[in-house]
Amino acid sequence: YLIFQILYINDHKYYYIVSNMKNKNNYDYLLADLTKLNGVGKKTMEILKKKKINNIFDLLWRLPKSYTDRSFISKICDLKIGKVQTIRIVPLKYQFPRVRNLPNRVNCIDQTGKLDCIFFNSHEGYVRKILPLNEEVTISGKINSYKGRYQVTNPTYVSQDSTLIETIDNKYSLTEGIKEKTYNKIINQILKNLPILDEWHNKEILKKFDNQSWNEAIIKLHDPSNIENFKANFYKRLVYDEIFASFLVNSEIRKKIKKIKKTSKQFKKKVQNDIVGRLDFNLTNDQRNALNEINQDLNSKSKMFRLLQGDVGSGKTIVSLISSLNVISSGFQVALMAPTEILARQHYKLAKKLFPTNTCIELLSSKSENIEKKRIVNGLKDNKINMVFGTHAIFQEKIIFANLGYIIIDEQHKFGVRQRKLLSDKGGNNCDVLLMSATPIPRTLTMSVYGDMDVSIIREKPQNRKEVKTYSKLENKIDDVIKFVKKEIKEGNQIFWVCPLIEESKKLDHQSSVNKYKYLNELFPNKVALLHGKIENEEKEKILNKFLKKEYSILVSTTIIEVGIDFPNANVIIIENANKFGLSQLHQLRGRVGRGVKQATCILMFKSNLSVNAKKRINILKNSNDGFEISEEDMKLRGFGDLLGFKQSGVKNFRLADPIQNEDLFLLAEKQIKKIEIENLKIDKYQALLKLYDQADIINDIV
Ligand code: ADP
Ligand code: MG
Repeated sequence: YLIFQILYINDHKYYYIVSNMKNKNNYDYLLADLTKLNGVGKKTMEILKKKKINNIFDLLWRLPKSYTDRSFISKICDLKIGKVQTIRIVPLKYQFPRVRNLPNRVNCIDQTGKLDCIFFNSHEGYVRKILPLNEEVTISGKINSYKGRYQVTNPTYVSQDSTLIETIDNKYSLTEGIKEKTYNKIINQILKNLPILDEWHNKEILKKFDNQSWNEAIIKLHDPSNIENFKANFYKRLVYDEIFASFLVNSEIRKKIKKIKKTSKQFKKKVQNDIVGRLDFNLTNDQRNALNEINQDLNSKSKMFRLLQGDVGSGKTIVSLISSLNVISSGFQVALMAPTEILARQHYKLAKKLFPTNTCIELLSSKSENIEKKRIVNGLKDNKINMVFGTHAIFQEKIIFANLGYIIIDEQHKFGVRQRKLLSDKGGNNCDVLLMSATPIPRTLTMSVYGDMDVSIIREKPQNRKEVKTYSKLENKIDDVIKFVKKEIKEGNQIFWVCPLIEESKKLDHQSSVNKYKYLNELFPNKVALLHGKIENEEKEKILNKFLKKEYSILVSTTIIEVGIDFPNANVIIIENANKFGLSQLHQLRGRVGRGVKQATCILMFKSNLSVNAKKRINILKNSNDGFEISEEDMKLRGFGDLLGFKQSGVKNFRLADPIQNEDLFLLAEKQIKKIEIENLKIDKYQALLKLYDQADIINDIV
């Protein structure tokens, strides 16, 4: 059986063979290698692979940007110069000049006029072959005129079979290295061979999209008359497919982890009360709530896989340490992993200060002596050590825990779903996992970025916290800034100076920070330290440590100051070329100061006067200290793009879906997923959807 789809494009009627019935529900075709396509050789495949197009399915999402209508045959007398047109002509005479570099020319006619075909870089024999004299051929190409004569230079199409030409060619971007003609042929071939897939959505959902099937929608997506039809139902259906698939994968991972049975952790309330009593502040309500949620998970018989999300400085560390002590008192070991050694050390020191003396905690540092390392390795194996702090080194193979019950991972918001799944598998079934991140994200994104975890949120800042005062300054007012810095230093405060981020060149980045360092060092001799990307890790930690010990007053840095580290004495941050950063990033940077009791200041410096839009963005930052709110606003103003740098992180990016434009579909998908979770619905019928949209191995153990 053949199934036809009829489409009307500019009043022309088109039949598409939608599918061969024998292709029914055979999504393997879509996942097949590109070489399965006619006309795709090694060269084309390589080019496409570089664009991350690895299989046929991937090819469907490069959308046409515009199209060339070659379907209408024009007469020479009606030609319009500058337009691509299709004409039927008869070649009359060749002109092959003997002089090199002059083009070959063929004089042609139709009943209404004359036209020349011009060929640069084409062999005489080739021209004779495609344009035989006195035979009618159809050509298509851009019309120009020279000395009053129409001509077509290197026509795109020349054929005696006019049906091969009278088509509508889509113009795709991203086809560099591949001819438009070839690319169109490939896409048409796929559209003709699309398998019919069993519908995965239920009737109720499908109705919202005019009951359009996936096939139908894909064909319409490549239909030139639908370009920019983002609001049409067929388009929305495809957007919804994408969102739903991403949510469903995450939800399935979460369900799977939750099914893992573990020994419940039993601890006494007194342990927690004692440590809370030793703090010189009261926990905020949000901290308490988060702690309760974590404790409940620890108590339960299912494995915990939870994210503790809270704005910079909201006090996540203390929550994780209190829960650690609970776990230790229940007889299990704890491991806390931080992205840098200096942060691990800071957490270790805080625990040392707060934990009762009979708990044995250690810091595993790359700098420790071998004997020391051996002692820690043995202590963990013999269950003599209750908790270890360190970088990813604490998960080396040679480190064996006697009874690991809790893994805490700090500031690794850039881990993708896959990396997180690996972490949760580590440590075995009895091991609960807590991730901490200071990167608030807009609500619509939570399910797609963190949908595989339960989430606790700390929104509230500690009460004693003063808002960081935020100012913007033009660069030529640097003298004012220096005056201010002088005053702050006199009062014993410390300053971060963030150098311009010059994306185009690491070298320039480096240069500008060195120059700034020299400049400041002259003004404040022996008080300035410099951190840039070229400094080795060990040296970097030394510098940061000295800054923590107040040996310097100003820290000049290019790269973003190490996340997570608590600098209680730093209360001024100056950010140059601030418009190069996203709002969320600026908010993160600003969060490096204002941890102590003193009033903190953030100065954003700009090269030139701000545009209206830039002013709007900066005002958001000046008026809000809430990372969640800022991320929402930032997304609205800048678009989803590369908000927060998730792009490099393996966190899934959408092909069509846009969290701003399609907010309703995100919410709809969330509702559906919740329904599936609550009613414990089977997900077999989504198999094709998951296989196609998330071609991850992770799925294999789910479906
Ligand atoms: P983050 O959530 O960014 O990791 P931290 O855990 O480093 O934040 O905490 C930032 C600072 O706030 C620390 O100096 C910490 O001691 C302090 N802090 C944490 N909780 C409170 C609280 N409830 N009241 C006052 N200060 C707090
Ligand atoms: Mg932190």
